[in-house]
Amino acid sequence: EARRQGEPGYGFYSADMAAQAQRRLGLQRAVRDAVSGDALRLDFQPVYAMATGELTGFEALIRLHDAELGPIPPSEFIPLAEQMGHIVEIGQWAVEEACRVAAQWPPHLVVAVNLSPAEFHSGTLITTIRRALQRHALPPYRLELEITEGTLMTDSELVLSQLRLLRDMGIGVALDDFGTGYSSLAYLCRFPFSKLKIDRSFAAALDHSASARSVLRAIVKLGHGLGMTVTAEGIETQRQLSLLRDIGCDLAQGYLLGRPAALGDLAAIILGNFAQGLSRRPRAARRN
Ligand code: C2E
Ligand code: MG
Ligand code: MG
Ligand code: MG
Repeated sequence: EARRQGEPGYGFYSADMAAQAQRRLGLQRAVRDAVSGDALRLDFQPVYAMATGELTGFEALIRLHDAELGPIPPSEFIPLAEQMGHIVEIGQWAVEEACRVAAQWPPHLVVAVNLSPAEFHSGTLITTIRRALQRHALPPYRLELEITEGTLMTDSELVLSQLRLLRDMGIGVALDDFGTGYSSLAYLCRFPFSKLKIDRSFAAALDHSASARSVLRAIVKLGHGLGMTVTAEGIETQRQLSLLRDIGCDLAQGYLLGRPAALGDLAAIILGNFAQGLSRRPRAARRN
């Protein structure tokens, strides 16, 4: 490696690789520090009922803010944490923190937590969840777990048996990023998910693809036919919102309605939606 740097023609390539290696080392250090320190936090993205505009809950999205590297997106550090064997600890923290925060919300609001495949192989997932619910006196129906097709592919029987246990406890289980995988349909029929989250690429496709609407209509029909609530993710425009509402999606999530928000901003979102709800109600029905 060091020898090559002196060779003609390799200079640029090596500098680039050195920078990459440097970044990777930095990220590894950041992930290690995150597990023991307090660099992790959760942001919460609001989810709304399409029909009424009522807030139904939040999705917890993990954030790593490293003192040296600054904010590191989950798409970058989650896969690394998985490789380094730290994802189970990080996941335990996320479940615990999400339940702690949700316990302070009005009781109709649900918190959704994303899970990695490794958490199902740790043997500690069920205990972690049960403990977090108990510690914060959060009823199980107020927690929802989001998994992707990738998790089901790792060892379906092991994953499915734990999902069944969680569903039996009353916890919601959502199939996230639906429509991006290879065999999404097959997995849908094998497990009673309570929710289907349509990947945000479908919302984006509404802008340029004529067939997107028919595909979405079919997905929603399928989800409803299997008794699931259907969420549209990644809604960025008013047009996407009204199309997805017309198509029959039950819940809506996306930058148009609210970006992932810091803990300190949640009260304003919750109260704001409550106040809007009061003004949405017809005058005659209002009681003061
Ligand atoms: P996801 O669960 O599908 O989360 C949705 C992602 O889309 C989030 O990215 C969110 O910020 C982003 N998003 C929401 N609305 C819009 C929109 O209107 N437009 C666009 N372009 N993006 C939108 P984020 O926060 O970077 O998270 C990325 C992924 O990282 C998540 O995808 C999830 O798979 C994973 N992740 C996040 N938190 C956790 C966690 O606590 N544990 C695990 N295992 N994975 C997590
Ligand atoms: Mg998710
Ligand atoms: Mg998603
Ligand atoms: Mg995703």
